[in-house]
Amino acid sequence: MTLKPYVDLRLDLSEAGVERCARQGDHTDLEASFTRWMVQHADELRPYLEPGPVDVVEANDLHAGLIRLLDRDGWMRVGWPEEVGGTGGDIVQRATIYDLLGRGGVAIPERLYPLEILGPTLLSFAPDMAKEMLPAYLAGDEFWCQGFSEPEAGSDLASLRCRAEEVSDGFIVRGQKIWTSNAQLSTRCMLLARTGEPDSRHQGLTMFMVDLDSPGVEIRTIRAATGEDQLCEVFFDHVHVPSDRVIGEVNGGWAVTMYLLQFERSMYAWMRQAVLHERVHHILEQLPADRVAPFDRIGELYLAVSSLRTRSLRTVERLASGDFLGPEVSVDKLLLSTAEQLACDVAREALFPLLETGEGEWADYWRSSWYFSRAASILGGTSEIQKGIVAQRLLGMPREEPRGR
Ligand SMILES: Cc1cc2nc3c(=O)[nH]c(=O)nc-3n(C[C@H](O)[C@H](O)[C@H](O)COP(=O)(O)OP(=O)(O)OC[C@H]3O[C@@H](n4cnc5c(N)ncnc54)[C@H](O)[C@@H]3O)c2cc1C
Repeated sequence: MTLKPYVDLRLDLSEAGVERCARQGDHTDLEASFTRWMVQHADELRPYLEPGPVDVVEANDLHAGLIRLLDRDGWMRVGWPEEVGGTGGDIVQRATIYDLLGRGGVAIPERLYPLEILGPTLLSFAPDMAKEMLPAYLAGDEFWCQGFSEPEAGSDLASLRCRAEEVSDGFIVRGQKIWTSNAQLSTRCMLLARTGEPDSRHQGLTMFMVDLDSPGVEIRTIRAATGEDQLCEVFFDHVHVPSDRVIGEVNGGWAVTMYLLQFERSMYAWMRQAVLHERVHHILEQLPADRVAPFDRIGELYLAVSSLRTRSLRTVERLASGDFLGPEVSVDKLLLSTAEQLACDVAREALFPLLETGEGEWADYWRSSWYFSRAASILGGTSEIQKGIVAQRLLGMPREEPRGR
């Protein structure tokens, strides 16, 4: 199965669109069958069309319904191994489904992003835990978050201080995480903590899966510029974590982190490109009729989204073939943050004054997206760090070794 590299792919969810697609034969079996399913279930999918609610709790509750709908008809299991309740296949099949959802204007639920980052990591480093926990995630009953960053450790993640002390029946965790996306909605946290000496840097870190209802866990939300409480601080006060919740090796957490970052900077980018692809169309549909549109800027955006899609396509296929993707995924991450920000900047210009003073669900959607897009060059590793990686590790430029993620 291959994914398509070009961008003029808006999904026509009418019967005529599906028939045309079948006649042209420009689809794989999965594309055809999932597209057909979307058309047949258009009424059930309607509540999940963009613009969805901007409130994170409301959106999460709503989108749990979408996951359950996809699960009911078997789509959540496509591309996952049988051991975790899947029907087999690989990441390309999952990518096909996300792509079709995005291009059909359907929201990609927030909780599917960590699934695609943390799920493959758990499968590789803790298969027994994956068997125990992933089926519930695929059914819409779990939501995991990622507890890496700390107040004094973001780009320089190897300096983190949250400590996990080994005891007879596991570990006792003490410390704080920050900027943990959606922790307040999550059931578990993939936590990177220090198990080595304080100055052991990346050699003394271990990855754990921590149940967020454990005694001693406190979660405080942080109000963002979007007006939403999507980010959190998470405090661990003598939290007991059993030994069988170690992901990978004790003191081997850095290898787990590097593996995970491949997905954070690639599959995540693929899922977002589907959303951005649709945003280009939203802009075109909402252009005010009483003035000339900034078509050069819209063209610039189209190019940015096309570049992201083309690059990301190759990356997802390489992941499916088992390649380990190192510094090169920083290119995907940079293309993604550029396209995320450009989409919202172009919307702001082209639809002026919708984002400034507009009212209604589209105004709320674009405003919230614009604020969030400012963080696209920070989350998952900042653009400065990615550029450093590209300069030094891909282009071999002489500068000090970056210590960042
Ligand atoms: C919306 C959002 C969601 C997030 N979600 C999560 C999450 O779920 N889990 C999680 O663990 N973290 C999350 N983060 C945190 C994110 O990973 C960090 O913010 C990021 O890694 C940067 O770390 P920092 O904020 O500590 O900034 P710092 O590392 O303090 O950087 C400050 C500035 O200095 C620059 N800088 C730092 N070092 C260098 C260098 N060597 N060379 C050049 N410039 C440098 C940076 O680019 C940045 O501009 C999220 C962040 C955001 C904004």
